[in-house]
Amino acid sequence: MNKFAIAIHGGAGTILRSNMTPEKEKTYKDALWKALTEGEGILEKGGTAIDAVEAAVCSLEDCHLFNAGKGSVFNAKGEHEMDASIMEGNKRNAGAVAAVRGIKNPIRLARKVMEKSEHVFLVGDGAEEFAKLHDTPFVDQEYFFDEFRYKQWQKIKGSDNFQLDHSDKENKEQKFGTVGAVALDLDGNLAAATSTGGMTNKKFGRIGDSSIIGAGTYADNRTCAISCTGSGEYFIRGVVAYDVHCLMELKGYPLQKAADEVIMKRLLEINGDGGLIAVDALGNIALPFNTEGMYRAYISGTGEKAVEIYAKG
Ligand code: ASP
Repeated sequence: MNKFAIAIHGGAGTILRSNMTPEKEKTYKDALWKALTEGEGILEKGGTAIDAVEAAVCSLEDCHLFNAGKGSVFNAKGEHEMDASIMEGNKRNAGAVAAVRGIKNPIRLARKVMEKSEHVFLVGDGAEEFAKLHDTPFVDQEYFFDEFRYKQWQKIKGSDNFQLDHSDKENKEQKFGTVGAVALDLDGNLAAATSTGGMTNKKFGRIGDSSIIGAGTYADNRTCAISCTGSGEYFIRGVVAYDVHCLMELKGYPLQKAADEVIMKRLLEINGDGGLIAVDALGNIALPFNTEGMYRAYISGTGEKAVEIYAKG
């Protein structure tokens, strides 16, 4: 056993295999690898799981390829409202922010809510005011501008439709670029973190699963740490992350079985699409998704490493 483990995701659903070029694939994989390595560097030196997931998510937030931080999608008002949450499995401490604007790294703000406030969840203006009081870096709107995402928004702007990042129902290409990380550290503590720009053309004030503890993010040392990606409304209705934890705690399911049951069965029963990453207290990793692919990378407790996009086989 390696004794530590980490997994990250950059969204479930991907550019169709037929549209993927070797160059694009390399760019995505390099970005995932960089984020994974940042988390690994912390864990192998005996650092905490919470530091590792925060660092890995920050790295993905700073990369324009993913729908979080810098690469966040446009909402119906042409703004970027971001959601993020973080949780540690030891005492089940958690912090979350939603509908925040201009924050460079929403995951850092979520952690500050966890550590420097008596609350778990702050939204909008209140979260931004809290950010200012706690020296959180802000950036201007141009920082988030991305030509591809702007065009994506122009296509559905003014309509009642909203869509997952890169999703294009006509050619069935989907990519949900939300990012997340889960980790087990050498002290046996688990942690999970998730960050997103949400969905293109989402209503002003819409909050997805990524900032909701129990839906998009959950961690409990007795069972596992989880970060989700997909159509957030379904993940909220399915209380997906907590459901995996419950199957392990109350039914004694092993990690893979619990994660598969939730993503491949319960979520599909309500037509939910997406996936999750999970690590348990032994360093086992599960990465189920019911879409064509999920940007993901991991190092398991046995030292096995991989970066993958599509389903195997
Ligand atoms: N779950 C995110 C949301 O609904 C979207 C995603 O995973 O890309 O906001």
